[in-house]
Order: sequence, then C-alpha cells, then structure tokens
Amino acid sequence: MNLTGRFAPSPTGPLHFGSLVAALGSYTQARSAGARWLVRIDDIDPPREARGAQDAILNTLEHFGFEWDALYRQSDRTERYVAALQTLEREQLLYGCTCTRRRIAATVRRSEAGFVYPGTCRGTAPAPDTAHRVIIGAEAVQFTDRVRGLQRYGLAEATGDFVVRRRDGLFAYHLACAVDDADGIGEVVRGADLLAGTAQQIYLQRLLGLSTPAYAHLPVALGEVGQKLSKQTGATPLRDNEPLPQLMAAWAFLGQTALPDRPADPRAFWRDAVLRWDLNAVPTGDRRAPAGP
Ligand code: GLU
Ligand code: ZN
Repeated sequence: MNLTGRFAPSPTGPLHFGSLVAALGSYTQARSAGARWLVRIDDIDPPREARGAQDAILNTLEHFGFEWDALYRQSDRTERYVAALQTLEREQLLYGCTCTRRRIAATVRRSEAGFVYPGTCRGTAPAPDTAHRVIIGAEAVQFTDRVRGLQRYGLAEATGDFVVRRRDGLFAYHLACAVDDADGIGEVVRGADLLAGTAQQIYLQRLLGLSTPAYAHLPVALGEVGQKLSKQTGATPLRDNEPLPQLMAAWAFLGQTALPDRPADPRAFWRDAVLRWDLNAVPTGDRRAPAGP
C-alpha cells in the first residue's frame, strides 16, 4: 500500500502550532509505516505570499528535526494544472463565470463552506478573463476518513459549481491540490478545516480520472476565542530555538500517550514518536491549543 505522506504549507506566513500539528501527524503517520514524506510548498497564489515565508517555513521544519525525502513547489507544476483544466473543458464540465463578488454575495445562499453558487453563468464559454467553474453533479461525495469515519458531502448544497481557475488566471487551491495529491501521495494527513474541501478534491480527481489518496483529518487547533489558528489571523509563530516543548505539546494535542523518557532533543523525540504513534488515539473533535507550549 502506498502511504507516502506530505505536508503542504502555503507560504503566507510563519508556521504556528496548528501547522506543527499537521506536520507532526503526517510525518509520524508516514514514518511509522516506513513510507516517504514530502514537503510541498503551495505557492500558486503570489498575491497572498509573504516575503521570506518559504525560507522561514523550511528553517522551522529543520529546527524541529523533520527530514523530507523531497521538496517541491506548486509553482513548478502549473502545466499539470493547465492540462487538468483542458481536460475539464474538453469534457464540457467547465464554464466561464462573470459574476462579481458583490453580486454573488447579494444573490447567493450561504452554507457552512461559504457561498453556494446557483449556476447563474452555466453555458458561458470559459474565457481568459472569466473565472472558470466546474459543474457539479447531484450525487453526494462519500469517503471514509481514517480519523473521523464515513463522510458524505452533497456539493450541490455545500458549494454549488465551484471555481477551479480564478478570474485573475490563478489556479484554485482545490484544483492544484487534487492534481498533486493524486500524483504519488498515498495518504493525506492534515487539519480538519480541510475536511469539507476534501469532497471537492475527490470530486475533481474522479472527473479527471485520477487516483484518490486515503485521508486522515486531525483536530483543528483553536485559539482563545475558539477561532482556528491561522497565519492570516496572526497566530503566534513557532519558536525555532525551542522545538522540544512545542513538539511535546503537539504530540499531546494529538491524543498520544506520553513518551517514556523526556527526549533530550528532536532526534530522540522523533525516534520514540515514530515507534509509538497511534492514529487511533487521535481525537475526533477540534480542540483548544495549549497556552504557550
Ligand atoms: N496549503 C494549504 C494550507 O496550508 C493546504 C494544505 C493541505 O492540503 O494539506 O492550508
Ligand atoms: Zn457567474
């Protein structure tokens, strides 16, 4: 079974506790199975990229003792995304959307996932200056998450036809991620904030005739007022000079039993962690991040 894992940070800012949880979970899950682990920089949104964030992220991962088998960037893979869009267009599954954000906000129903696009522009030919939306089917997408069990999402109720290429020509995250995860990744381990998006990614993989990896979604680390920690909302960055207490906090956050001896350094931590990692112990609900690990 292919259990190749990956950690896929967006270079929008420094890593924080929630990123560490995702990195640690995907790393120990892959390594405990003797599988490869890759770092993919999700850098296809230049306007949102923070200067220096790529270097800062890799630096932090190094300080925390992560060892990756390969490092790659989405910005080097754009011809694959173009090919995927061409396939969808050839199959007449794409259309151009000229709706403004304001019009969508004013006319469209909201769901937990955001706006449910009602298909207003169906039938419009996709053009370079229009957003491209993919036509979704009536059938729900179903998958079994290795932490949270059976998941079922009706895209018609959750998102409607969703954007795969933005009006500014940039590729949508779900398109790039669906293509990349189908390319050699066996198991995607990441935060449960992406659980609903998984349905969109699986849907795209099916339309494109691509394989679908296994999924395991980890609890989201919540801040003091119950908000998701994120780079955009200014979550406290990880401290590079003090990896061990933060690694231990992420380990405990993921419901893992305490390690027998307090490890002396990250290398010792990883040796024990990889031996003792138990995906079945991972909590199925989101949780408050510990205060200042
Ligand atoms: N790069 C995205 C993020 O940081 C997606 C991560 C993923 O798919 O694991 O939220
Ligand atoms: Zn439209």
